[in-house]
Amino acid sequence: MAEVGAKLIFLSGRLTAAVKNSTKKGTLFFVVHKHKATSLHYDFRLEIGGVMPSWSIPKGPSLDSAVRRLAMPTSDHDLDYRHFEGVLPPGYGAGPVMVWDEGTYNPEVEISKGVRAEVTDRKEAERVASESLKEGNLKFRLYGKKLEGSFALVRTAGFGGKESWLLIKHRDEYSRPGYDAKDYDFSAVSKRSIAQIASEGESGTTPFT
Ligand code: MN
Repeated sequence: MAEVGAKLIFLSGRLTAAVKNSTKKGTLFFVVHKHKATSLHYDFRLEIGGVMPSWSIPKGPSLDSAVRRLAMPTSDHDLDYRHFEGVLPPGYGAGPVMVWDEGTYNPEVEISKGVRAEVTDRKEAERVASESLKEGNLKFRLYGKKLEGSFALVRTAGFGGKESWLLIKHRDEYSRPGYDAKDYDFSAVSKRSIAQIASEGESGTTPFT
């Protein structure tokens, strides 16, 4: 079996047991902001190349491997602002922002049909993530507080004339049929609901400047 990058963890069903006792977390950051601007959406952000390429997901990420969530690309996010939770002023998407989920991730590569390998070496992880982003087919394993396991973000033909992607949960031990982000209206860092954040403002995490 060809070696891809440094350490490999094989994620086929029969080798799932091996994963649980190996890598505990990813080498790159991710965050999901629940953002009530003009309309409610979830900003899904992955650290790649020192910034956070981002996708706006109207219905939010899901752990249900049977659903595909529309994800519209938005502008890159500053890595330093990933902890922000509070109320954004006019001109910055006015409205409350919650750190809905946060954690780390590793890119994955498909080494044979349905068999994915996790790239855990930082330099190689950056390289694979950048290339996958350009190709429009990102595979990754999340280590979050709500979201865990293997996912894919795939660029599609387009939606209403705009570039669009789909966020898909791979079937694994973290798949949860019927999972709906709206049922989890609490912050990963403060436990507050989006309504509480709207009325209280900043949580005392990193300020937005
Ligand atoms: Mn937003």
